[in-house]
Amino acid sequence: MNIQMCDLKGQYLKIKEEINTAIQDVIDSTAFIKGKEVDQFQDELASYLGVKHVIGCANGTDALQIALMALDLKPGDEVITPDFTFIATVEVVALLGMTPILVDVDPSNFTIDIQKLEEAITPKTKAIIPVHLFGQCANMDEIMRVAKKHNLYVIEDTAQALGADYYHADGRTSKAGTIGTIGTTSFFPSKNLGCYGDGGALFTNDDALAAEIRSIANHGMKVRYHHDRIGVNSRLDTIQAAILRVKLKYLDSYNEARIEAANAYDCLFNSCPSVVTPARVKWGNHIFHQYTLKLVNADRDKLQKKLAEQGIPTMVYYPIPLHKQKAFEPYRESNLGRSFKVSDMLASSVLSLPMHTELTDEIVKFIANSVIQSIKD
Ligand SMILES: *Cc1c(COP(=O)(O)O)cnc(C)c1O
Repeated sequence: MNIQMCDLKGQYLKIKEEINTAIQDVIDSTAFIKGKEVDQFQDELASYLGVKHVIGCANGTDALQIALMALDLKPGDEVITPDFTFIATVEVVALLGMTPILVDVDPSNFTIDIQKLEEAITPKTKAIIPVHLFGQCANMDEIMRVAKKHNLYVIEDTAQALGADYYHADGRTSKAGTIGTIGTTSFFPSKNLGCYGDGGALFTNDDALAAEIRSIANHGMKVRYHHDRIGVNSRLDTIQAAILRVKLKYLDSYNEARIEAANAYDCLFNSCPSVVTPARVKWGNHIFHQYTLKLVNADRDKLQKKLAEQGIPTMVYYPIPLHKQKAFEPYRESNLGRSFKVSDMLASSVLSLPMHTELTDEIVKFIANSVIQSIKD
């Protein structure tokens, strides 16, 4: 058994002909930048998500940066993000001269803690960036309520949850990333919808904002060589768009395969008191970008080592919460007095198991049994 955290090769082999043809078509056209596949993919993703505008860009980090640039935010403005996420979420805030304000997360679903979010709001707060971590949504009804009350923008970091559903209290369902002011995502190869290189996108229902985003991603220009503002160069290239067009058709079945593997893991861990399996929120489904356990009274380092010896890779997402990162030192003062006890606890106790679209019952059983046995030994 060759077990991987994410099996991109196995997934590719099943759609090889379609992918190869799509790539060859782009090469034959030589329209490597702004080829027709880019617009086609943007339209198809917009229709899948039920959102008015999808704008491709170079990666998920750029998507977050462009989103902040498109809103009228200024240096010194405070932007709230969860403490337990990938660095990209706060990096862009700092890069633009704004002040990142970190907030602790919920101990069961790992997304931003709503009560602590409200407590962190000051007159300088301008935006919230909730992260739909590991494949399920933050509590968007509550986040939108808080945002409305305090007149804040909401940028949904949907890099880990593309295709997840959000169930509103009033019975409507929305796709993750389409509820806030702007949604952003990443097509990094291992994400639920991954391309074969780097890629990202922004979503919005606001026509004026979409025009602004398009312009910023294209050197701040709307009319060629007329630059209205300082922008960036951030494009989704045609080959990546062509690959994504093929893979978008399979996104629901890919997410379904992840959910099935997760449910199988859950059953196998049923009677193991040393692991807490991933909680499912009531306001949405979980599409398992990661399958992340919380370990109880188990030595994580030892467990990882034992599993590695049996050919089972595992990862710790994330071993150091953002408030403890060296790069965050300049912002420590702005974040004094806030407790991060949950993210500290998670950083020392979470463990992500292999999760991808090609997991078989046999592999899942082998991994789960090895985890259970290794904890006992
Ligand atoms: C992957 C990821 C990003 C960044 O995406 P890139 O395409 O790698 O720049 C941002 N936020 C979160 C939560 C991510 O997981």
